[in-house]
Amino acid sequence: ESDVSEQSEWDALLAQPAEETAVRVAIRSRPQIDGESATSIRGNHVSVGDTNFGPFDATLDDHSTQKATYDGVARNVVEQALRGFHGCVMAYGATGSGKTHAMAGERGDAGIVSRAIAQVFAVSGAESDETHTRVECTYVEIYREQVRDLLVGDAGASENALPPPPQQQRGRALQAGNRTPPRAKTPPRAKTPPPQKQPRIREDERRGVFVDGCTRTRCRSAEECIDAFRMGSRRRAVRGTAKNDRSSRSHAVFTLELTRTTTRGAATVTQASRLHLVDLAGSERVKESKTTGDGVKEAGNINQSLMVLGNVVTALEDKASKRRKGDINGAARVHVPYRDAKLTRLLQDALGGNAYAAILCCVSRAAADASHTTSTLRFASRLKSVTTAPRKNLDPKDMEILRLRRENAKLRAALVDD
Ligand code: ADP
Ligand code: MG
Repeated sequence: ESDVSEQSEWDALLAQPAEETAVRVAIRSRPQIDGESATSIRGNHVSVGDTNFGPFDATLDDHSTQKATYDGVARNVVEQALRGFHGCVMAYGATGSGKTHAMAGERGDAGIVSRAIAQVFAVSGAESDETHTRVECTYVEIYREQVRDLLVGDAGASENALPPPPQQQRGRALQAGNRTPPRAKTPPRAKTPPPQKQPRIREDERRGVFVDGCTRTRCRSAEECIDAFRMGSRRRAVRGTAKNDRSSRSHAVFTLELTRTTTRGAATVTQASRLHLVDLAGSERVKESKTTGDGVKEAGNINQSLMVLGNVVTALEDKASKRRKGDINGAARVHVPYRDAKLTRLLQDALGGNAYAAILCCVSRAAADASHTTSTLRFASRLKSVTTAPRKNLDPKDMEILRLRRENAKLRAALVDD
């Protein structure tokens, strides 16, 4: 008799959503410091001057709290990640529009990353004996089309980490045998991390698209996880300078890898999901190069990954419009250029793949920023055509065993009926 209830529990665990899901698109405006404002939010619409955009899935005005932002943008994606679906939450917008404020938050005002971590550990900390969630994180930045490990060298780093720096004068301290060994000269701490093997974006059938060759840190508590994020973020900031503000030019991708194992009797199901939390480069870096006298400098400002992100969205719009017209073959033939840039390659699952995705588009309301705000809202409107077909990531071997068990149970039931 227990077979029946057990079966329905497995069914719930294995359930896949049947439908495509639109990417969730939210707008948030940051508080205005001074000056005239050009942008206003009414309901789910946003207007700049006379131009109206929307409706969007969520709008968050200047007074919105970090909690409201999390609830309106990220909460569902994190919930789905805990159920075995890949997820992605991205912040898009011009430099200064509030992306880092929303993702990383500030002291005492936690952003999406800390809240997501808290939600993950609230669930994983309240598990029964039958389920276990393993949490690991990676943190990379994409800068000038190179993937850099932001966790390299951190304590607790595991896979692929470089060896720690040489022990400080260990031999001398031991040989001296003093109670108070002479304070070892601290070797000058490298301002830039040691040269690292460049992480690579790879894809395989079981794991999907992932970064290979970067530090993967096991997190046993929310605090450990937040520490890793803070450490990596500091590294990102340090590498930049005031003149060449790296954080406005690089994409920071913090990823939680969740491996959830459910065991019951002899059967086990493993769900492995990845949750990307992304602080994108300033979207002003995408503007088409106008051949002014300063052509070279201008070209240097263009961000390949952002440009390709735009092209990917254009292709997906085209696909969607062909499908609406019933041109299924045409839709299938549309080439989506994910591979033209590191960012789109890495986030392929979120951009038309099998993940749940949400994009927070950050804007300033100031009249002086109106052109940036308009371009962000235009992009946000286009994002509404992006859909994904979420699928749980279950281990095929587990699935086969479960299938056999079920068949077995059915046969047994048939025998009893006879
Ligand atoms: P971005 O990462 O998009 O370049 P930031 O997040 O660094 O922009 O925001 C620029 C400045 O505005 C920061 O000083 C930040 O603290 C402030 N800021 C942005 N959004 C908000 C907000 N919603 N509430 C309060 N301050 C904000
Ligand atoms: Mg920033």
